[in-house]
Amino acid sequence: MLLVALNPASALCQETSVESWASMDSDRRGALPNDPTPPESRSIPLVLAPLPQEEEGTIRRVETGGEKVVALTFDMCELATKTTGCDMDILSYLRQEGIPATLFMGGKWMRTHAARVRQIMREPIFEIGSHAWTHGNFGIMSEEAMREQIEWTQAEYARLRGEALRHAEEHGLPAPEITPVPTLFRLPYGRCNDRALAVLAGYGLKVIQWDVAAEMGQDNASPSVADAAVRLIKPGSIVLMHANLVPKGTAALARNLVQKLRGQGYRFVTAGRLLGMGTPVRVRDGYFTTPGDNLSLDTRFGYDGTGRRGAAGR
Ligand SMILES: [Zn+2]
Repeated sequence: MLLVALNPASALCQETSVESWASMDSDRRGALPNDPTPPESRSIPLVLAPLPQEEEGTIRRVETGGEKVVALTFDMCELATKTTGCDMDILSYLRQEGIPATLFMGGKWMRTHAARVRQIMREPIFEIGSHAWTHGNFGIMSEEAMREQIEWTQAEYARLRGEALRHAEEHGLPAPEITPVPTLFRLPYGRCNDRALAVLAGYGLKVIQWDVAAEMGQDNASPSVADAAVRLIKPGSIVLMHANLVPKGTAALARNLVQKLRGQGYRFVTAGRLLGMGTPVRVRDGYFTTPGDNLSLDTRFGYDGTGRRGAAGR
């Protein structure tokens, strides 16, 4: 564990704020206690306008006309039944290098990692998207369960945003600019169906998937894993990785990828920024590399993807 020098002011408010980007014991996978209770308030402070029909679907990449930009995206998720971690090696590296990235956070992950989320919210280089409440599978869930996954996450984000703004005010700090609610959504497991896409469009959420899943499952730190991803990346690609310390070696993979892509003349933008740089490539399916390649996950994480087992209530 790295010891962090705290000034008296931040020592007083450790409960509500962390300042260091160095990894701490509490960032480790499973270190924080689980808390799956839904947010007290389900109200969303800003209701986004529904998407027009032509924007319904999942976005895999953006046609940029050859402009060499890439969106690095990192999922930060956990099931209803456990907590994961927060990969500060990745976040501090991106921050030091000035590389914008989009972080798709589960709502319960935000709850259990609240101090880190407030810290990340204050850092303009990071864009936060929704990744559902407890990783529910939108290919098999009821509509009501999907709505809970969406609304609870927006509500939890709004609660933490309120705390981050209050914290700045109480400490006489300039008010950070924090987006009122996430406008981007990532489907857990990449799974969806027509009803899920309609529900998400109704909430005004743009569904951002990926055209390159960079992690290979084993030793992602190996340069060959980054090489394989680089071969698939093209201008306007959206790259999937994780910053929850579940896949092994992603921090090294992210470094390797950044170096190799920079060497090829690429620069990095958030997914939200990328959408405005060309024509989004939309499909109706969500999948890893080919349609249907994620269907086998439907039965592996409890009855609805959240890890909950037993009587399938819905
Ligand atoms: Zn996930």
